[in-house]
Amino acid sequence: MSLLGPVEVRALAEKLNIRPTKKLGQNFVIDGGTVRRIVRAAEVTGEDVAIEIGPGLGSLTLALLPEVAKVVAVEIDPVLAGQLPLTATDMAPEHAGRLTVVHADALRVGPADLGAAPTVLVANLPYNVSVPVVLHLLAVLPSLRRGLVMVQAEVADRLAARPGSKIYGVPSVKAAWYADVRRAGPVGRNVFWPAPNVDSGLVSLVRRDPPKTSATREEVFKVIDAAFAQRRKTLRAALATWAGTAAAAEESLVKAGVDPSTRGEQLGVEDFARIAEHRASEHR
Ligand code: SAM
Repeated sequence: MSLLGPVEVRALAEKLNIRPTKKLGQNFVIDGGTVRRIVRAAEVTGEDVAIEIGPGLGSLTLALLPEVAKVVAVEIDPVLAGQLPLTATDMAPEHAGRLTVVHADALRVGPADLGAAPTVLVANLPYNVSVPVVLHLLAVLPSLRRGLVMVQAEVADRLAARPGSKIYGVPSVKAAWYADVRRAGPVGRNVFWPAPNVDSGLVSLVRRDPPKTSATREEVFKVIDAAFAQRRKTLRAALATWAGTAAAAEESLVKAGVDPSTRGEQLGVEDFARIAEHRASEHR
C-alpha cells in the first residue's frame, strides 16, 4: 500500500500551492504508522462504507481504501477536493474506484449528498469543528454504526468523560445520547505537517439506542444546554429559565427523581431525558 509521507505531503502541497490554514484546521498527517493505526482501531471490514471528513491531501484516505467497500470523503476546500481523486488514481489505482469525493461543508451534509449510506466514520477531524461534526453526523446519518476519529487530546477527554468528572460537559452528554464513547489512545503532534501546538487523541464511538423517553432529542438537548450554561449552579437555579421559574424547575426535577440541589455534571444522559420528559408532559 502506498501512503503519503513527509516528502509526498509537502510536494503535493507545493504543487497545489496549498498554505495550510488554521481556520480550516489543516494539519496533514505525514506518518504512515499513524494512519495505519487509525484504520486498525476503526475495525473496518470489506463491507463497510466509510465516511471520511476532511480527507485533506489523502493521507488517511489511501490507507482506508483497500480495507472497505467504499470511502465517501467530504472536503470543504475546493483545491483539496479536486485533487483527491487524482491522488487516489495515481497512488492506489486498483482501489480508486471505491472513492467518492464530496466537496461540501461536513456540518451541512445529509444522506442525499453522499451517494451511499455510511456505516462507519473514520476521520482526522478539523479541530475547530470536531464536536459539532460528530454530533451532526450521528444525528443525520442513522446508517452510521461506529466511528474512530482523531481530535484534539482535550476534546477526546471531554467526549469520553463520565458524570462526576471535571471535564464532563455538553459534548460528553450529547455524544452519550448517540453512542458509547471511549478514548482509543494518544497521538503526538509531530505526526502532522504543520505540527499543531496541541496533542491529539483517538476516540471510538459505537452507536447505542438513545434513552427511552417521550421527550424529543431537541427537548432533551435544551435541558443539557441549560444545565451546563451555569454549571456551578444547582440544577434548581440553572434550570429556572428553562422551566419558567425555580419552583417549576424544582418540580420537574423531583418528578424526574433528581435531587434539585445537585449540579448537571453529576447527571447521565438518561437523567436529562427524564427531566425533559417531565417538563414536556406538564407543558402539553
Ligand atoms: N485527513 C487529512 C489528514 O489526516 O492528513 C487532513 C486532516 S486536517 C486535520 C482537516 C481537514 O478538514 C482539512 O483538509 C480541511 O480542509 C478539512 N475541513 C475543515 N473544515 C471542514 C468542514 N467543515 N467540512 C469538511 N472538511 C473540512
